[in-house]
Amino acid sequence: MYDLIVIGAGPGGYVCAIRAAQLGLKVACVESRDTLGGTCLNVGCIPSKALLHGTHMLHEAHENFEKMGLMGAHVEVDWTKMQAYKAETVNGNTKGIEFLFKKNKVDWIKGWATIEAAGRVKVGDTVHETKNIVIATGSVPQGLRGVEVDNTGGVIVDSTGALALPKIPKSMVVIGAGVIGLELGSVYARLGADVTVLEYLDVITPGMDGEIQKQFQKMLAKQGLKFTLGAAVKSAEVQDGAAKVTYALKKDNAEQVIEADCVLVATGRRPHVDGLGLEALGVETTERGFVKIDDHWSTSVKGIYAIGDAVPGPMLAHKAEDEGMAVADVIAGKHGHVNYGVIPGVIYTTPEVASVGLTEEAAKEGGRKVKVGKFPFMGNARAKAQFLGEGFVKLIVDAQTDRILGCHIIGPSAGDLIHEVCVAMEFGASAEDLALTCHAHPTVSEAVREAALACGAGAIHA
Ligand code: FAD
Repeated sequence: MYDLIVIGAGPGGYVCAIRAAQLGLKVACVESRDTLGGTCLNVGCIPSKALLHGTHMLHEAHENFEKMGLMGAHVEVDWTKMQAYKAETVNGNTKGIEFLFKKNKVDWIKGWATIEAAGRVKVGDTVHETKNIVIATGSVPQGLRGVEVDNTGGVIVDSTGALALPKIPKSMVVIGAGVIGLELGSVYARLGADVTVLEYLDVITPGMDGEIQKQFQKMLAKQGLKFTLGAAVKSAEVQDGAAKVTYALKKDNAEQVIEADCVLVATGRRPHVDGLGLEALGVETTERGFVKIDDHWSTSVKGIYAIGDAVPGPMLAHKAEDEGMAVADVIAGKHGHVNYGVIPGVIYTTPEVASVGLTEEAAKEGGRKVKVGKFPFMGNARAKAQFLGEGFVKLIVDAQTDRILGCHIIGPSAGDLIHEVCVAMEFGASAEDLALTCHAHPTVSEAVREAALACGAGAIHA
């Protein structure tokens, strides 16, 4: 009899299993893939970041090496080798989780799990008994009506297919200007593909700060990505090894056709709870298929919990990890805690885009009086030395209390810089607290301090 069986070994599930084992529980984790790590390590965060890193280096070699006096032969891409580098990166990480399972005495039960009843998890012909179950089965790409994805064909693909295309396409249409579409779109643009992004809404990266959205689109356009906004895709079909995408512009309903070697469908993801047997168990789900949970990650059935992409909230690996640790704490009789107001979101393009907390728009809609402190990277010596002087830090602060409500960054290392603001927000810090904190020079983090100074008497270098 286990204390806990976790279903799914993504960042939510494996972190939950390890934490529970550290707290002294007898734990097993069921995973149907051949490797641990879930979407994130196998076909998500990690392989995409490997390709983003490789192609960023290519961009540096082509665009900036000569400017720094680094001369030499023109760098060329060996796609097979780049794919091998990506696979090795993934492999190292998935093996690392296997090692951690062994170290923490977490049993990996290989296979597909169904929940027979609270306390009974069936894998193959064996029923495993357990006091608690955590559903951490994650998400899968959301399809689009009229567009049939076939990852093996390599022409109309989802993110999984786009990470492993047989060859670099000359042209690519990305359907959906969200994080995944833009990250992978920029990978292929850097590899020389002519990339067009079709987006149904009138903005890219919906939900982000408005100023960041505009600046980001401008910067990506400079890198060669083309954008058609307000475009409703009707269909996509494969003809002679290429794809034809038909869409209608919302403004006049005019039907347009675009052809490309490859189409990436990046229209979001849906929770993956198929085949678990939730309906028969009486585990309630939302209209969109997410598992309903209470404040302690408990489903409507006692002894069954759920976390990560399978439950409502941002579909992010670190949100899943935080929930994994918190629910393990709850099951072990402790107080689990996740601060949903301080979950950063990062887009790993160059430049990176990062945000946490309220946008200016949301703060104002909520009736708050806010101060905005902005600082451009053009005033940051380190950023300029790296040819990354475009972009800015934008801090949203309560006008009365000076408390930091949110931060939005587009620029060098934005995905790392955001965390000093996360820590500040966790401690309920004011902009003045950040402004009074000494920041090493020359670092790009000085831009965050300058944005905080801009909330008071003014930034120094702007
Ligand atoms: P998952 O990682 O989806 O893992 C669930 C696991 O459960 C899977 O391995 C699945 O095989 C298994 N499973 C499902 N049902 C069963 C069953 N019945 N029995 C046994 N096993 C089962 N997030 C970030 O924070 N940063 C990023 O940079 C980032 N980049 C991404 C890039 C791409 C291309 C994609 C697709 C996603 C990216 N994400 C990123 C999102 C991130 O991958 C997810 O938010 C995260 O993986 C969710 O973790 P999870 O544990 O909830 O589920």
